[in-house]
Amino acid sequence: MVRDSRAHTVVLAGHLWDGTGAPPQPDMALRIAGERIEWCEPAGELRRSPDSELIDLRGLWVLPGLIDAHVHFWGLSPGEATPADFQTRLKTARQQARDLLHAGFTTVRDLGSPIAPYLRDASAEGALTTPRILAAHVGLTGARGPWLIPQPSWWEARVIRGSESAREEVQRLHDEGVDVVKIGASTGPRAEGFGDMPTLTEEEIRAVCDSAHEWGLPVAAHAIGSEAVRRCVVGGVDTIEHGYGLSDEVCELVAASNAWIVPTLRTRAVRPAPESQATSRNQMDTLRRGVAAGIRYAAGTDSVGDVFTQHGSGNALEIELMGRAMEPAAALVAGTRDAARMLGLDGEVGTLEAGKLADLIGVRADPRRDVSELQRVEFVMRSGRVVRHDSGESGR
Ligand SMILES: [Zn+2]
Repeated sequence: MVRDSRAHTVVLAGHLWDGTGAPPQPDMALRIAGERIEWCEPAGELRRSPDSELIDLRGLWVLPGLIDAHVHFWGLSPGEATPADFQTRLKTARQQARDLLHAGFTTVRDLGSPIAPYLRDASAEGALTTPRILAAHVGLTGARGPWLIPQPSWWEARVIRGSESAREEVQRLHDEGVDVVKIGASTGPRAEGFGDMPTLTEEEIRAVCDSAHEWGLPVAAHAIGSEAVRRCVVGGVDTIEHGYGLSDEVCELVAASNAWIVPTLRTRAVRPAPESQATSRNQMDTLRRGVAAGIRYAAGTDSVGDVFTQHGSGNALEIELMGRAMEPAAALVAGTRDAARMLGLDGEVGTLEAGKLADLIGVRADPRRDVSELQRVEFVMRSGRVVRHDSGESGR
């Protein structure tokens, strides 16, 4: 059910975890005016104006809307062998984006799909009910080897050869209206998962980053293995995607830089094949060492909508998996406030504070005690609009 609530709305929260680092508070009220939060305060002090609509979530824990910082809206149907035409894929992707929103993801970043910019624009115009979308469109990679093996037929990447070509391709992406420039800086994951080869030189990466930053665009790099990640950090990449198979030395280098890592744990963890499970163990090992080194992390799943990684079913598993290598509260922050910081959206989303967009979700119990609560979202509001409100029984 979609309900437009442009007037004042008051949300009563059984518990409020606002994502700022403050401890959760019981019996809170949030007043929402249009798309923004006007104030949050103890429900006992509620100043309710007669025109305001009341949403009673006293049986729930209310948190900021979740962020998935790495998805691909390829518009594939699960189990699909041959990809459909563009219009069919767009239609499928639209439904998948809606599923993601209903699962509590109010903001997502697509890191490579020609469909995502269409979804983003339609969503911004209010035509679709989707998360807020940042889109990279088509990624750039080097001539030294294919980014993905095997290369799916619907996958598109532009090859850059040298610094001049890097700058030209970044300008082209800027003109096409991307929110972020995506580069493939290594191959993989291959069978071993962590012996992956760099595909771009340090010089090419630096040219991409300098040029993107001049246009005000951040750079996200697919990078697995120490050498590719080292080149990314030295070259000025803003976010490193996957970022596993790292030596302690490279972990220290990342921690000392401004770069973030999006560890994309779910995508391997859910695949039963032995090589995926080996990669998954390597990812967790790197994550534990990276956390100890002080690397900044944000949550992103690398979901593509295939049979293992459907959009909107199990994306929150990423935060649960991160919670095995860090404090569960830190993993929640990685999926809300820190993801917003990484995306440069922390003035708008990521925490529940006066002035921010009213993106919030409700779950039954304290997600710090059981992070899997995030997979059972019962209430979703995006920009002050209720997009999901299950009529559950109260309290547990
Ligand atoms: Zn990806």
